[in-house]
Amino acid sequence: MSLRLPKLPSVRDLTRIYNLRANQQLSQNFLMDTNITNKIVGMAGLELDNALCVEVGPGPGLLTRSLLESGAQSVVAVEKDPRFRPVLDQLQDASGGRFRAIVGDMLKIDHQDIVRCGMELGSREPKPFDSVHLVGNLPFSVATPLLVQWLHQLAERRGIFASPNVSMTLMFQKEVGDRITAIHSEPPRGRLSVVAQSLCDAFRIYSVPSSAFVPRPKVDAVVVQLRPLSTPLLASSLGTLEHLARMMFMKRRKMLARIFKDWDPAQIALLEECEIDPTLRPQDVPTVKLCSLAKIIEERGIRLP
Ligand code: SAM
Repeated sequence: MSLRLPKLPSVRDLTRIYNLRANQQLSQNFLMDTNITNKIVGMAGLELDNALCVEVGPGPGLLTRSLLESGAQSVVAVEKDPRFRPVLDQLQDASGGRFRAIVGDMLKIDHQDIVRCGMELGSREPKPFDSVHLVGNLPFSVATPLLVQWLHQLAERRGIFASPNVSMTLMFQKEVGDRITAIHSEPPRGRLSVVAQSLCDAFRIYSVPSSAFVPRPKVDAVVVQLRPLSTPLLASSLGTLEHLARMMFMKRRKMLARIFKDWDPAQIALLEECEIDPTLRPQDVPTVKLCSLAKIIEERGIRLP
């Protein structure tokens, strides 16, 4: 379903009229090309029936417009920079009760405020949402902390992640996106790959060149979609898996046998117990095996360095 918005001034004109110069401290790199934002929303393949879309960092709102035009009925956006309030209010007025912006910090906001805002949107029946889709061209400087926070919330089914059907469609710097999606034996593999893939299927859905942003960043970007696994691989707390992955990837060029010897030679038997070849390097171990290792470490109360 597509729901056309009434004719609005272009986002490029609005940034000029309101003098919205990009603030580097808030990682502001704006998308000004509707073809790209429409493509991101199209590639995301979101099920929009009775869904809440939560956009992080709408800025002047071009991606928001694409979401609304694709038929999203309930969109709540969280934007840290209050300078965007007038532009987002204008979009709110044009949205036919489908959009609301909150000025706030996504790292600190109480998710109940987002859901409450979504429930109050004019165009919907007062019943719980069937699904929640988190969407955003993320501020690069806080993209990793945001994702890690959301993964912890997902592991514990807290906040918007309490919904049985959640997805995340997020733009990252290419290097970070490559790390999130790298499976074992792929060079960008790291802590973030393991932590994300213990809970989600993670795949790249669209590449965006740096030339598509204003101002142009130094690096290209990629849109990654994360969809929670119906049966997560995670078998411990996410904190334990994260700690284990950090310890291993800090010495990513060493063999596991060496890493374990440096830590505590008595623990090398754990590798055998989890059927992990000690001559492998950290990047070569599949997520499922690291999850088994984290489970045993947690169950036995073993202290990681
Ligand atoms: N969505 C817009 C686009 O695609 O053109 C803007 C994307 S820009 C890369 C990132 C946006 O996130 C900026 O508008 C910035 O002000 C906002 N932002 C930065 N830190 C944030 C935070 N902690 N919480 C919410 N928004 C934040």
